[in-house]
Amino acid sequence: MKPLIGEVNGVMREFELIDYLLQRQRVARQDVVLGIGDDCALLEIPSGYELAVSIDTLVADVHFAQQQDPYDIGYKALAVNLSDLAAMGADPAWVTVALTLPVIERAWLARFCSGLFDLAEKFGMQLIGGDTTAGPLSMTLQVHGFVPKGKALKRSGAQPGDLIYVTGVLGSAGLALLLAEQAPAELAQRLLRPTPQIATGMALRDVATSAIDISDGLAADLSHILARSQVGATLQVDRLPLSETLMTHTSILHAQQLALSAGDDYELCFTVPPAKVNLLSTLTAGTYTTCIGIIDKNPGLRLVTNDGSEFNLEKLGYQHFSNSCS
Ligand code: ADP
Ligand code: MG
Repeated sequence: MKPLIGEVNGVMREFELIDYLLQRQRVARQDVVLGIGDDCALLEIPSGYELAVSIDTLVADVHFAQQQDPYDIGYKALAVNLSDLAAMGADPAWVTVALTLPVIERAWLARFCSGLFDLAEKFGMQLIGGDTTAGPLSMTLQVHGFVPKGKALKRSGAQPGDLIYVTGVLGSAGLALLLAEQAPAELAQRLLRPTPQIATGMALRDVATSAIDISDGLAADLSHILARSQVGATLQVDRLPLSETLMTHTSILHAQQLALSAGDDYELCFTVPPAKVNLLSTLTAGTYTTCIGIIDKNPGLRLVTNDGSEFNLEKLGYQHFSNSCS
């Protein structure tokens, strides 16, 4: 890549960064009338679709370590946003990035862009604009996706009798966070580079009555579905999907606690009426899904074990602005 005019000792200025982003971007979508470079981007939404929009901020030393590989920072910043699109059943289209950096270091930016654009390309997403400011390291990404009119998966549609499912396995990212440098590669990967469940979210449009992505822990996130849908649930703790690696690195009880209350898994939790369970297996063939409980009328979340006794959850999940997990 040609050196940028004005770049001194690998440190860029704002407009050089914008040029650099334009050089690195490889996705060019038909629905982007005007991308990076003007005061606004101009975009076309296909007819018959609604625009799903979500925004997330990642702050250094809260969501990631300042010294972390910038590839993983760029990757995860987009992955957590994509996970919200997945939870609505949306098809990703565009992303904007507001970056606050202490200094624009070329080497840092190059790795950051590799992580960001590698994931964006996987989903055909185009970077259409953003903002760049000097300050303590943080980033805010806004993602945009399409969902056919009336087909979005909301938190509010769960009905008594619906079965509760999750994708993938839970608790792995939570243990990786606890083990830090000692975490086995498989678990560390889950924490650093979560896989947004886009294809599954889109496949669920015709079967799920509600959905949410698991970012703050299953118990906390499922509770959002329950509150919005004005229902309750009973969850079978022994059915929680746990990876072999997770179970070899901690006790079953701890693994279950992590699966219920640790954040960062970015799997989907969703509800399906019993009449649509066969359709679910057809539509999600090839995706690992597990039925973990059932929606009922009694408000609140009940956690039970195989012998019918109550499971004692130590903490509910992560919340900002509380000194510890609540
Ligand atoms: P303005 O001052 O009019 O807000 P800027 O000078 O901030 O515009 O940005 C110029 C162009 O570069 C805009 O199209 C903007 O969207 C884009 N841009 C700025 N920073 C970023 C970034 N971090 N990522 C992507 N696009 C950016
Ligand atoms: Mg302007």
